[in-house]
Amino acid sequence: MEFVTDLHLHSKYSRAVSPSMTLPFMAAWAVKKGIDVLSATDFTHPLWFKEIKALLEEDGEGVYKLKNIDNKTKFMLSTEIASIFKQGEKLRRIHNLLFAPNLEIAEKINKELIRRGCNIASDGRPIVGLSSKQLLEMALSIDKKVILIPCHVWTPHFGLYGSASGFDTIEEAFGDLSKYIYGIETGISSDPFMNWQIPELEKRAILSFSDAHSAPKMGREATVFKLPKLSYSEFGKALAMLDEESKVSHTIEFYPEEGKYHYTGHRNCGVSLSPKDVKEKGAICPVCKRKLIEGVMFRVQQVAGREVSTDEPIPQPDENGVNWIKDPKNIHPPFVKLVPLLEIVAEGLDSTTSSEKVKMLFDKLCDELGSELKVLLKTPLDDIKRVGGERVAEGVLKVRRGDISITPGFDGEYGKVAIWSASSGERASRDGSDKI
Ligand SMILES: [Zn+2]
Ligand SMILES: [Zn+2]
Ligand SMILES: [Zn+2]
Repeated sequence: MEFVTDLHLHSKYSRAVSPSMTLPFMAAWAVKKGIDVLSATDFTHPLWFKEIKALLEEDGEGVYKLKNIDNKTKFMLSTEIASIFKQGEKLRRIHNLLFAPNLEIAEKINKELIRRGCNIASDGRPIVGLSSKQLLEMALSIDKKVILIPCHVWTPHFGLYGSASGFDTIEEAFGDLSKYIYGIETGISSDPFMNWQIPELEKRAILSFSDAHSAPKMGREATVFKLPKLSYSEFGKALAMLDEESKVSHTIEFYPEEGKYHYTGHRNCGVSLSPKDVKEKGAICPVCKRKLIEGVMFRVQQVAGREVSTDEPIPQPDENGVNWIKDPKNIHPPFVKLVPLLEIVAEGLDSTTSSEKVKMLFDKLCDELGSELKVLLKTPLDDIKRVGGERVAEGVLKVRRGDISITPGFDGEYGKVAIWSASSGERASRDGSDKI
């Protein structure tokens, strides 16, 4: 069976997160979006953990669902921890996800963090002084089943491979515990293809989640697992890439160019360079003559330690016209790049994602046709046309085919995707507030 999962989310107790991020609200949106399993998230936060315990009940090994509410969404337990520490004379800021096999273990992790002086009540995503390795060591000493996944690994300031405060290898960050790092989360600015080219990721799972700070953003990136049944153990087996029975089936991606740090550049100088440009012209700003802010693409090349291809394999369309990108080495699962349906509708109606008519049509499409992911990937175009009109159907087809135009993001400036290139190329609606 396939399970669409989004296992990196934040609750209303995390900074800059919508106050409506509560478990029932998230579950309602998961149905609309077509996500089967959500992270109950932020389990380190004492008040939120109380809510988790009060609202969820066990529904399988390491799997939870809402008590007394008719909603099919399942939850698993994960939390994000920001580590700030010094290693190798360099200040490091690294974000990691911790997955707990059940509430008891999650509680033990929380208690141990408190015992070690961490202020876990400060935020849903607490900042701790433990290194990434110390955090993993601590988690494993509580239970060997706890899984640590470095998240949004390419963001310059908080990623494992980040150019500003990260590492060059998993080994450098985790030493002899590297073997317990079964996978990484790619983050919005990079897609699996770039990660396939990193030698040490060849035997590791490449995961995508949304890191959403509001419910409508959930599932914008997601990992689809193929498991005999949904359980924490099967999830662990899939990450460890042990057999064909339990595995990552595919991932759903944002266009990485939309991320804030795809290209190298200077926002104030209006300079944006591709890795090829950087190689030819250097990483010095032609306007202000200072060093440019390195983009993810350039950093991927550095970490790979070899020439990295920026030309993705030619996509292979399925029977619905969806373009799949497949690993030529057949090691990693395929992925698809999508634009959120709300944005397709907004551009199709020449409006914004916050307009009522756009939201109403989005709801109608999801309700009548199943879910957002179904509309984007599977629904016949005639049905989309019937419910959403010709232009929305055309927009979905263009997204399925990858027939859209993109201006890559750089130096904190979001990239811009336009489905109809004749349009302005900049949808006023794009808030991107929690895009990295
Ligand atoms: Zn983070
Ligand atoms: Zn996060
Ligand atoms: Zn400059």
